[in-house]
Amino acid sequence: MNHFIDVILPIPLEKRFTYSITQAESEFLKVGMRVSVPFGKTKIYTGLVGKIHTEAPSIYDAKEIHQILDDSPIVTATQLALWNWIATYYMCTVGEVMRAALPNAFILESETLISRNLTKTIDDADLKDDEFLVFEALQHQSSLKIQDISNILDKKNVLPVIKRLIEKEVILLQEEIYEKYKPKYVRYVKLHREYASQSGLQELLEDLSRAEKQRQVVLTLFSISAKTKKPVKVKELIEQSGSSSAIVKALIDKNILEEYHVQTDRVQYDGEENEDSKQLNDFQIVALQEIKETFKSQNVTLLHGITSSGKTEVYVKLIEDMLSMGKQVLYLLPEIALTTQLVTRLQNYFGEQVAVFHSKYSAHERVEVYNHVLNDSPKARIILGARSSIFLPFHELGLIIVDEEHEQSFKQFDPAPRYHARDTAIVLANLHQAKTVLGSATPSLESYYNAKENKYGFVEINKRYNNVQLPEIELVDLVEKQKKKLMKGHFSDRLVSEIKEALQEGHQVILFQNRRGYSPIVECNTCGHSPQCPNCDVSLTYHQYRSQLRCHYCGYTIAMLQKCMACGTAGLDTKGFGTEQIEAEAKILFPEHKIGRMDLDTTRGKYGYEKIITALEQQEIDILVGTQMLTKGLDFRNVKLVGIMNADNMLNFPDFRAHERSFQLMLQVSGRAGRTEKRGKVLIQTYNPYHKIVQQVSTNDYKGMFEEQLQERYNFKYPPFYRLIKITFKHKDYNKVELASDWFAKSLRQVFKANILGPEYPPISRIRNQYHKNVLIKIPQAQSLGKTKAAIKKINSSFEAVKDFRAVRVIINVDNY
Ligand code: ADP
Ligand code: ZN
Repeated sequence: MNHFIDVILPIPLEKRFTYSITQAESEFLKVGMRVSVPFGKTKIYTGLVGKIHTEAPSIYDAKEIHQILDDSPIVTATQLALWNWIATYYMCTVGEVMRAALPNAFILESETLISRNLTKTIDDADLKDDEFLVFEALQHQSSLKIQDISNILDKKNVLPVIKRLIEKEVILLQEEIYEKYKPKYVRYVKLHREYASQSGLQELLEDLSRAEKQRQVVLTLFSISAKTKKPVKVKELIEQSGSSSAIVKALIDKNILEEYHVQTDRVQYDGEENEDSKQLNDFQIVALQEIKETFKSQNVTLLHGITSSGKTEVYVKLIEDMLSMGKQVLYLLPEIALTTQLVTRLQNYFGEQVAVFHSKYSAHERVEVYNHVLNDSPKARIILGARSSIFLPFHELGLIIVDEEHEQSFKQFDPAPRYHARDTAIVLANLHQAKTVLGSATPSLESYYNAKENKYGFVEINKRYNNVQLPEIELVDLVEKQKKKLMKGHFSDRLVSEIKEALQEGHQVILFQNRRGYSPIVECNTCGHSPQCPNCDVSLTYHQYRSQLRCHYCGYTIAMLQKCMACGTAGLDTKGFGTEQIEAEAKILFPEHKIGRMDLDTTRGKYGYEKIITALEQQEIDILVGTQMLTKGLDFRNVKLVGIMNADNMLNFPDFRAHERSFQLMLQVSGRAGRTEKRGKVLIQTYNPYHKIVQQVSTNDYKGMFEEQLQERYNFKYPPFYRLIKITFKHKDYNKVELASDWFAKSLRQVFKANILGPEYPPISRIRNQYHKNVLIKIPQAQSLGKTKAAIKKINSSFEAVKDFRAVRVIINVDNY
């Protein structure tokens, strides 16, 4: 009898590919193991065994596999079930899901680039002969393709060698660059409470009269503290008093000075579980009980808790329950909210049981976490991860927490699979018979609607922890301020005076502007021309810092122009404004203070974001200007004022979610103000203070926003009442895109009659020299989703058969956000 396996390859093939195996291999192989296989004339791929059987393929002769790569499955049956669901639901191939689901290091292929791991010293004696040959070749060449290695070793089956070399940390996949970051550990000092009073200090200085150096330190500390209300760093004190760390230490030992850290909960995890979880307050206890109660009848519960209500501490209790039952927990967060702050907080409670899974981690780190989860290791009981952690090989998953569930970044845009991690998480939980908690201060309309319809359980916390008040929100009418000439650049007089007050009290300020760059558009005063990107249909954005014009879509840059390209006049003006300009203006208005900026441009490196957060926490920044990155679940104690520079450009964004998103953004960024005893303040500058959304933000009226937006969604046939599938057509030839999209839309209309929109050009119709056109399919609840997708697939097959359309890329995005 002949034996075969169906293999999933990490490429967009509709069907699995069949290979032949020997009797012995068929006894050894199991579904979920990897094999290296030839494909086409020259390619080698890592494939995953999907099925083992005895039926020869009828259309082609099955090739033999090269090699078996695993001793036991690395993908579980549940994972495969999830992959299949994703492929069907999001209309892509299982191969595409496989590529997204497995760490890169697991799917080596002919084109993968390999280089030496320079951070590790290698002892030749640890290497087998073939391993040594590769190692030696890499001393002469900085990188090798797998094909090269195949030539060097003069054999086809090189993946096992490479796999061993990766395990021994001898080699790296090329894209990896290691950069370890540890936030600086800053020490602060203050005078011991005993000496805080006037008389206490007097006495102390007399006592120290014979220790002049120590006396000098105390005096300096006193004068620094009088000038600024900020905490005083040990380093600063040593410098300004001209003393040494020994002298300061002596004072600390004598209990005259007290040493402390601003955020003790941010201290780097040192390998010890050093904290019990917190005692919940009454509101949290009720919420926890209610969640458990809803779980008796529901699989998913929405926790709507206002910012700083202590949702995280409630999750911690749920996690404790799961651990005691021997279950794994997945804690999902948007990439950017996955900060050291939260990691440390959880590690303090759960120690080594917490594993973090992050796209910025190296292949090695990711493989390590993957294997820990696969082997049910005690080092990965709680996975704290971004979007792609839903793909880990869980065994005993008991609970998924999706925090900040409203975040649009849970949806993957490109490449396929274009999945929504929140929605997929719910499916994953069901496969494990686990529960899901969705948490947010500003839930998505969809989730809130599902809760109202009793599809989800629903629990609320309406009080901030410690009864801290929600910030006071003040609207500033920019029309009036302009008329009365009370604007300094983009700062109203109200904003300036509130900032001054906050800074004087030693507090910090956050300024939110939804755009990066200096100003979005540069325009000629004479002819009105504004410089465009040659590859995309957008105006270039001015970045003052580098004196450049930049395209935010393709990265194209040129030096800032001195003269207009069209008419040659030297009179280019900037219109609109971004974070860079706010930063520049703030520096002029508040020259005494440190201004920082947080946007895509300042946070590019692996830890760029963390560095700015740390600087803010350690109060090295007084005013932080930033984009929506600021809104992501950060907990800064000393920020008292938040300024929203302009509410209008968010609201005017051409998208059916623009209002919902503006509400979420403004409320989330407001939530950064006043997280301690002092009530925070938020100023929203707008040309439109009577806009419904602005009003709803100012009164913290989520329900009002929900009802009104829901009505609009109903009227205009949008989610949650209709499902959306967007089909995008891309090609560098304008006419081809026209013809192709028209053909497709017409075919769709023949099947669906109504609810097909387009084809239409998106607001930016050309990106990287490719024209784009969209067709939107709205699917009413009564219409079968499965049948709709089948019809789309059928049309797509006929489409692909048209020779003229073959080069046009068709991108199908289900539940387009
Ligand atoms: P949310 O996630 O709802 O924004 P957090 O869980 O981050 O709120 O809580 C806000 C702050 O209140 C945090 O600094 C947290 O440590 C503190 N906190 C919340 N609950 C408790 C509690 N039960 N005991 C002590 N501190 C708490
Ligand atoms: Zn461009």
